[in-house]
Amino acid sequence: MSGLEIRIITCDAVDDGEVCDGEYGGDPSVESLDALRREAAEEGWRRLPGDDVDYCPHHS
Ligand SMILES: [Zn+2]
Repeated sequence: MSGLEIRIITCDAVDDGEVCDGEYGGDPSVESLDALRREAAEEGWRRLPGDDVDYCPHHS
C-alpha cells in the first residue's frame, strides 16, 4: 500500500476548558492545506487573519 498524506483541519476553539473536536478534511485528493482551507471556508470554517487557528462552523 502506498503512503497517503491526508490533510485535516481541526477546530481550535475551547469550550469550558475542552478543545472542540470538530475537524474537516480527510480527502487525499486535496493537494494542499490552502486548498483544503478554501473548501472548508465554503462549509463555514473560518481562519482568523494573523492567527494560526481555525474555527469550525459552530465556532466561527
Ligand atoms: Zn469548533
